[in-house]
Amino acid sequence: MSTFQDLGLNEDLLQAITDLGFTKPSEVQEKAIPLLLESEGDLVALAQTGTGKTAAFGFPMLEKIDVDSRTTQGLILSPTRELCLQITHEMKLYGKYCKGLNVVAVYGGSSITDQAREIKRGAQIIVATPGRMKDMISRRLVDISKIQYSVLDEADEMLNMGFKEDITDILSHTPEDKSTWLFSATMPKEVAAIAKNFMYNPKEITVGRKNESTTNVSHEYYLVNARDRYQALKRLADANPDIFSVVFCRTKRDTQKVAEHLIEDGYNAGALHGDLSQNQRDLVMNAFRKKQIQMLVATDVAARGIDVDDVTHVINYQLPDEIETYTHRSGRTGRAGKTGVSMVIVSKSEVRKIKSIERIIKRQFEKKDIPDGMEICEVQLMSLANKIHNTEINHEIDRHLSSINALFEDTSKDELIKKFFSVEFTRFYNYYQKAKNLNVSDSSSDVDSGRDYRGSKNSTRYFINVGGKDGFDWMKLKDFLKEQLNLGRDDIFKVETKDSFSFFNTENELKEKVLAHFTDFKHDGRFVNVEVSENRGRAGRRDNKKGGKRTGRRREDRKETSGNRSDRRRSEGKSKPRRPNSGDIGSSRPRRSRR
Ligand code: ADP
Ligand code: MG
Repeated sequence: MSTFQDLGLNEDLLQAITDLGFTKPSEVQEKAIPLLLESEGDLVALAQTGTGKTAAFGFPMLEKIDVDSRTTQGLILSPTRELCLQITHEMKLYGKYCKGLNVVAVYGGSSITDQAREIKRGAQIIVATPGRMKDMISRRLVDISKIQYSVLDEADEMLNMGFKEDITDILSHTPEDKSTWLFSATMPKEVAAIAKNFMYNPKEITVGRKNESTTNVSHEYYLVNARDRYQALKRLADANPDIFSVVFCRTKRDTQKVAEHLIEDGYNAGALHGDLSQNQRDLVMNAFRKKQIQMLVATDVAARGIDVDDVTHVINYQLPDEIETYTHRSGRTGRAGKTGVSMVIVSKSEVRKIKSIERIIKRQFEKKDIPDGMEICEVQLMSLANKIHNTEINHEIDRHLSSINALFEDTSKDELIKKFFSVEFTRFYNYYQKAKNLNVSDSSSDVDSGRDYRGSKNSTRYFINVGGKDGFDWMKLKDFLKEQLNLGRDDIFKVETKDSFSFFNTENELKEKVLAHFTDFKHDGRFVNVEVSENRGRAGRRDNKKGGKRTGRRREDRKETSGNRSDRRRSEGKSKPRRPNSGDIGSSRPRRSRR
């Protein structure tokens, strides 16, 4: 194991490293730093989040640039404002003894003229988000024609976020003979393409196996009905009283919604997404760092900047669209040598994605059950007992002790304990005593059908007179309906499009809303008609080939027919009754005591 001295860094940098308290280089630093110091040229480095990539490119860049010159020599591109600021901050710390060094952050949402002014003063290194950088170049506020070193940090994420064109544009303003260092957690083909098109014979280093998830993170999944997702989330939180977590949702809207519900239900939660102002985001992040927020609900993009080391749980409230993104999410926990848990709440339609993720991260998921009400009560009770056991006594109480004692004169110790605990515990108990089982069995036939099953008793099947001919596939139709009716992702299910008509389901409660919305409804100049379908829905997905004509069809024709035998078998397999539920939880949610 080498030391930072062995890597060949100069005294100014070594001094800063001592100040930072870094004792030995991380693996990516050990591999990248000597390579970058001893020769010019391009580099592709693959390493997970939290492995110390900033220092891996930061130290060599600081070593190589000329601080006596005011020319911009280094450009670091990173996907988000938060990361941009974080890297700038780290670079300043690393270079604190490099006299004359000026590192400037360039990112959206803050005054472009201020940033331009700072650069004018002479910035040897610019750390930028692609969007703002491109903007600055086109306004001629920055000159990057003498760049010698460019870094693409979190390259996979920048491409995910659609920055490919901006990056291409930015790099076209830099010299051909510069060195490009690309850092990425994963290597999807888009990143490989960038490496191929913009880099010359790059050296490659990999820390850990490619695309492998951090090893001190365990992966768990929980199978529930889609509409129980939120209840499941609450149970996971309640079953882990000391949880300090990032909860991932797919959209800004869901992120906001889930956070609001959690707050309403008394959890210490907050939302982090791109629709919030800079100031709001900073407030949320500060509260999270101080652990005033225990559950930070975030979008993938917003979460890229989270540099908090002791996250205990990552909860995938919804799975990401891109499997690669899962690696980033789970990398938010298990940092800095700690262990962490990455939990995924899935509905049946998503279970097969778990298998794909397992293949990519080369780790197994453990299927676990959402704890039942009584388990949670027990966990909460023991957590409370431990808290009381560890509580430091406040001796202000001493002088009231005699009057309190007098009151409890005839109360036994057991009874006193029971009464004392009941103060907190009854809330949880009342809430959970009738809680239903949220777990769904995953008999393979159900999983194979790739469908999200809900009892037909509780849902309504509709016929709608648009289909493939009108440009709808099931996803487009689902999006269309969601948007029209202002519903969430899980509210519309079993969408099946035929050529000229389609079917979909909603919970019974939405029936009036759906029918009312599509009364005299026109879309693209034609009437769109929605009726309740007599068929409650089937499991098979085979298209009804006879259903091509719209004209002259009688209502009965609109019933769906089972496609083939195996479909029918599947649908029978699915029509088993739902687990008895002893009443859904009403409004009496337990309030958490705030800390
Ligand atoms: P990455 O970019 O790979 O996600 P960072 O560069 O943000 O990782 O580093 C993660 C954390 O580890 C930071 O807080 C950083 O200061 C710290 N760190 C980096 N290198 C070392 C080291 N050699 N020893 C101790 N801590 C380090
Ligand atoms: Mg980084």
